[in-house]
Amino acid sequence: MNGKKDYYELLGLGRTAGEEEIKKAYRKLALKYHPDRNPGDKQAEEKFKEISEAYQVLTDSEKRAQYDQFGHAAFGTEGPFRGGFDFSSGFEDIFGDIFGEFFGAGAAKRRGRVRGNDLRYNLTLNFEEAVFGAEKKIKIPRQGPCDTCHGSGSKPGSSPRACPTCRGQGQVSFQQGFFNVSRTCNQCRGQGTIITDPCASCSGAGYVRRLHTLSVKIPPGVDSGSRLKLRGEGEGGAAGGAPGDLYVVIQVEPHPLFVRDGLDIICEVPISFAQAALGTEIDVPTLEGKVKMKIPSGTQSGKVFRLKGKGVRDVQGYHQGDQHVKVAVETPSHLTARQKELLKEFAALGGEDVNPLSKGFFDKVKQIFG
Ligand SMILES: [Zn+2]
Ligand SMILES: [Zn+2]
Repeated sequence: MNGKKDYYELLGLGRTAGEEEIKKAYRKLALKYHPDRNPGDKQAEEKFKEISEAYQVLTDSEKRAQYDQFGHAAFGTEGPFRGGFDFSSGFEDIFGDIFGEFFGAGAAKRRGRVRGNDLRYNLTLNFEEAVFGAEKKIKIPRQGPCDTCHGSGSKPGSSPRACPTCRGQGQVSFQQGFFNVSRTCNQCRGQGTIITDPCASCSGAGYVRRLHTLSVKIPPGVDSGSRLKLRGEGEGGAAGGAPGDLYVVIQVEPHPLFVRDGLDIICEVPISFAQAALGTEIDVPTLEGKVKMKIPSGTQSGKVFRLKGKGVRDVQGYHQGDQHVKVAVETPSHLTARQKELLKEFAALGGEDVNPLSKGFFDKVKQIFG
């Protein structure tokens, strides 16, 4: 590999340096270039990788002998250590523990602390509640601190004992060559304490699951699929970890008259054939009650009228949709003898002139089929 720096030069050592010298040199440089000390510094990170690689090779007698003989070629694609070093994965595993002693004391303590799970609650609202907002009481089963032991897990009157394995440190450390390696204690899982007399209410867990009643304020304008996040209302965290969040997912029931399309409301209103032909004024239902709407004479079935600003106000309250009123002209059924008579008379009087759609349609048929 071109441009790769000499391992001895990287650590500032001569070729005859002993193991202790290598470790000492590495430790000094590693402290200087460790990513925890140089957050976001790509150059320092690169340097740290280089010196770490050099350290790995030079402290491994077999690899060091290969390197002394073949240089970097020993670890290229042809060399005995094919593939070289993978720093992309397991980087923290290799170095995190070694440097626990210098950098990791806080990090290791933090390991015991676990954020609580997020919870999801599906809430069904009726149409008006979604449009105008509502305050809803919901019951969620969630984990929270045990009241009997106040979360300690120990029977009241007794207290947890310092963990004998780690002597209350939460970590165990052991010497590995030059380095003092620290790991989270397995017995107490990093807590530093063990429960000898468990609380009867929670079996020593420190938390219990119970139904929790919560009042949720639904802002006006939500729709099916809207998600409300209630920060900190999820499952309780472990060992002082923050609680999770609660997500309330909205489902809106259909309305007998209205269909919602975003902020717009669609409503279909039937009118009679006579009303459509002669024109009239009708009552139209809206979210805020009935309003009068003018139907001009000669209105066709399917015609949509817009009532501006009669739709849904958005959650932020900046916009308001419209209501679209779709007119459905009804064909009369169950006619009396007199009505039939009048309609027949009407039909006899009416030519193509009074039915513009039919006229247009049959003109086209004539054009195409002759
Ligand atoms: Zn308890
Ligand atoms: Zn322990």
